[in-house]
Amino acid sequence: MQQQLRQQSFNLTGCSLSELQIIAEQLGEKPYRARQIFRWLYQKKASSIDVMTDLSLAFRQKLSAGGYYVGALKILQEQLSAIDATRKYLFELADGNTIESVLLTEDARATLCFSTQAGCAMGCTFCATGQSGFVRNLNAGEMVGQALGVMRSTDQRLTNAVAMGQGEPLANYDETLKALRIFNAPDGFAIGARHLTLSTCGLVEGIRRLAEEPEQFGLAVSLHSAIDVKRAQLMPKAAKYNLAVLQAACKDYTNKTGRRITLEYTLIAGENDQEADLRALIQFCRGWLCHVNLIPLNPVAALKYDRSLPSRVMRFGQELEQAGIAMSIRKEKGADLDAACGQLRQRQVHRS
Ligand code: SF4
Repeated sequence: MQQQLRQQSFNLTGCSLSELQIIAEQLGEKPYRARQIFRWLYQKKASSIDVMTDLSLAFRQKLSAGGYYVGALKILQEQLSAIDATRKYLFELADGNTIESVLLTEDARATLCFSTQAGCAMGCTFCATGQSGFVRNLNAGEMVGQALGVMRSTDQRLTNAVAMGQGEPLANYDETLKALRIFNAPDGFAIGARHLTLSTCGLVEGIRRLAEEPEQFGLAVSLHSAIDVKRAQLMPKAAKYNLAVLQAACKDYTNKTGRRITLEYTLIAGENDQEADLRALIQFCRGWLCHVNLIPLNPVAALKYDRSLPSRVMRFGQELEQAGIAMSIRKEKGADLDAACGQLRQRQVHRS
């Protein structure tokens, strides 16, 4: 059981139902008590054991005496977009590291974009997080804690969540899946599996492993170029799997699960938005169950890249459609915030 250790103290936030059953049994309680704690933690967003009033006082005292507590992430900064109500959060972890989350709201949808690692080892050259390097994996409690922090601060229920913040979720597979299962649990955040998405830069072993999972979680794969040499420049670590290997894993995933994969394609001026790039993208996508999400780049001040002209974005969209490939163009959100992944955190690091 991975726990945030605080001098013999154990954070209940992030515990699965089976872990809570073990805790209840170890304290001499019936295993069904675990479900009550689970509901308090995730459904009722309890901030302490004391408020779990349908547990006996004796049990609550045993939990506290045993060092169990309900941890919460500290919000260091919260930015609210004046344009579209996007909210961006900078959280502090118990060890002082910082991570980012974003809440995107549109009509009845409230989507949390959460981080799975502090920093990232993948080194994508257009990404602020990728440039600042890897710090450590987050545990499930720290992923779930981002959702709890956002829900408490907005008093809003989440309808969707995507592991698309900082970090590579498939490089932290077990804890990310554990967190997604808490998001999905009817007594947890009760978000349908199809509304929970994991976004990877294309770690093939992880894609193959995910295909074996029973849940219908969504999968997005960051492609960003369908030309090997260009992809290697933009995504040096991810490109250890060439495009043929990546495509084979994606096709096997869709054949096995029947689920469509979203291919994320960030359009960067002069880098991956030329006619040869478009032809390669169409070629890569033909004949299997995928959907291309075109994303105008969120430029990072310290990096050399610019977003593609709107006319290039439109051209990519039109040509994909004409080729019979499902596509969408991501709407810009929170344009007045430190919007690109990792920028808020970087600013904090530079300030301190
Ligand atoms: S784009 Fe994603 S995978 Fe690449 S460095 Fe940034 S956080 Fe990591």
